[in-house]
Amino acid sequence: MNHEQSRSLYDRALSVMPGGVNSSVRATRPYPFFVDSGDGGHVVDADGNKYLDFVMGYGPLLLGHDLPKQVQSAIQQRASEGPMYGAPTEVEVELAEFVSRHVPSVEMTRFVNSGTEATVSAVRLARGYTGREKIVVMQCGYHGAQESTLVEGKGDDTSPSSPGIPSSFAEHTLTVPFNDKAAVHSVFEEHGDDIAAVLTEPILGNYGIVHPVEGFHETLRDVTEEHGALLIFDEVITGFRVGGLKCAQGKFDIDPDITTFGKIVGGGFPVGAIGGKAEIIEQFTPAGDVFQSGTFSGHPVTMAAGLETLRYAAEHDVYDHVNTLGEQLRAGLTDIVADQAPEYTVAGTDSMFKVLFTREGPDDQTGHCEAGCKQRPDCPRYEYCPKNGSDVKQTETERWERLFWPAMKEQGIFLTANQFESQFICNAHTEEDIEKALDAYKEAL
Ligand code: PMP
Repeated sequence: MNHEQSRSLYDRALSVMPGGVNSSVRATRPYPFFVDSGDGGHVVDADGNKYLDFVMGYGPLLLGHDLPKQVQSAIQQRASEGPMYGAPTEVEVELAEFVSRHVPSVEMTRFVNSGTEATVSAVRLARGYTGREKIVVMQCGYHGAQESTLVEGKGDDTSPSSPGIPSSFAEHTLTVPFNDKAAVHSVFEEHGDDIAAVLTEPILGNYGIVHPVEGFHETLRDVTEEHGALLIFDEVITGFRVGGLKCAQGKFDIDPDITTFGKIVGGGFPVGAIGGKAEIIEQFTPAGDVFQSGTFSGHPVTMAAGLETLRYAAEHDVYDHVNTLGEQLRAGLTDIVADQAPEYTVAGTDSMFKVLFTREGPDDQTGHCEAGCKQRPDCPRYEYCPKNGSDVKQTETERWERLFWPAMKEQGIFLTANQFESQFICNAHTEEDIEKALDAYKEAL
């Protein structure tokens, strides 16, 4: 493949943008390809190379790159009527109504402009509502570029994971390993009266794909309720992808107090949202006292894109299609892994998938983490399936990034750039695309 144009664009970018990119994961080695355009389930780069795209913008593009006519015309109409106004519009109300109608725990929504802004605001809201300062997050969990959750360390021995964050901020953030019920109990035994909220993704989607073990979310729900703390589900990735329009909370039948959204709810435009019970969400200004505001929040073009995308998904068999392809892909990958790399693990559910380069496991058992298995103890691979972030950290991350990713790219398959981030199937993908991806995996593995 020729990458001349991308290389020269990257040279220019390096002089004027830090690391040549506007979001760090995009700086793939030795240089990223620059995208010229999207085409259904594919992207075309600046040199005219076409890739089967499983990155899908890191999650927002449920429908792929060719938006259906109803979505396109809603976006174009809004844009042609002036991009935004600094006054409310009907389309914001319609999207909030749609979310309340479909997501079990959500009665009210505040729209913002990114997943990061959503989790920042959700944490402030939980602290304001409870009058407490501490939050509990999962070790290695990711909730965007925000001060309260960029922490490393265990329990109450935490420190900021980036320079530029005062160490005193991390004192208010406690961590537990995902899926560790005992650690949850113990952190609440020690700090229960000071904890405002537990913040977790229902399925870790930024650190491998890690499924909840049976009863983990129920434990979080019970313990938070018992101690007067809130449960915040960060559904920035899983929202309107896992469990369809009911989101992961519907699939797992858990009723969080607050939910953060992003990605799909904006139909490919910058978005975030904080939803939940009216009594809590109404604590945001101007209804309540917890400050929250934004020039671009509820942007009409974004709202129209999100609303029409979700309406389209509701009226067509989008979730059936992407989830069926997801199952086919994971089943095919399972066979390939069993044959070629039995220590590796296939993870994912619905339209999310990832092959994790796990290191151990019995030779005679397939590397299959059954989709949505909730890490069942009767699974033959139960012992070897990653259960939390540190398990994923132990995988062959270097090999994944250095050898596997470029080998897939050279075969025209665009995957997320490291071992950690989930990959996605969109409505424009076809069975042939899945077959092509499986052939490429076979070759690269
Ligand atoms: N929460 C989760 C679970 C995410 O996956 C992300 C982004 N990948 C964020 C928050 C932050 O969202 P954004 O990048 O839109 O700020």
